[in-house]
Amino acid sequence: MTIHMGIMCEACRTVHFIGTSPGVELVKTIGGPYTLACKPPCEAVRQFRRDEMRPYRVSDELFSTGYAEPGEYELVEGGSFRIAS
Ligand SMILES: [Zn+2]
Repeated sequence: MTIHMGIMCEACRTVHFIGTSPGVELVKTIGGPYTLACKPPCEAVRQFRRDEMRPYRVSDELFSTGYAEPGEYELVEGGSFRIAS
């Protein structure tokens, strides 16, 4: 298990990981430097800023697929931690 920065889709609560999820794109537009397009069947699309990402504890296998579904990840609250990305 490793801690990675991710962004949650508020519609289906899937967490997407920056760098490995095909749904996360860095875009240079006013209002948000990143766009998250969730995976089918979820059709949610949102923009987010870097400071909205949160650290999640997840298996390396799931991280490599780009996302983790509810129950497969654990939000790391506060404290000190190392980011491996
Ligand atoms: Zn979603």
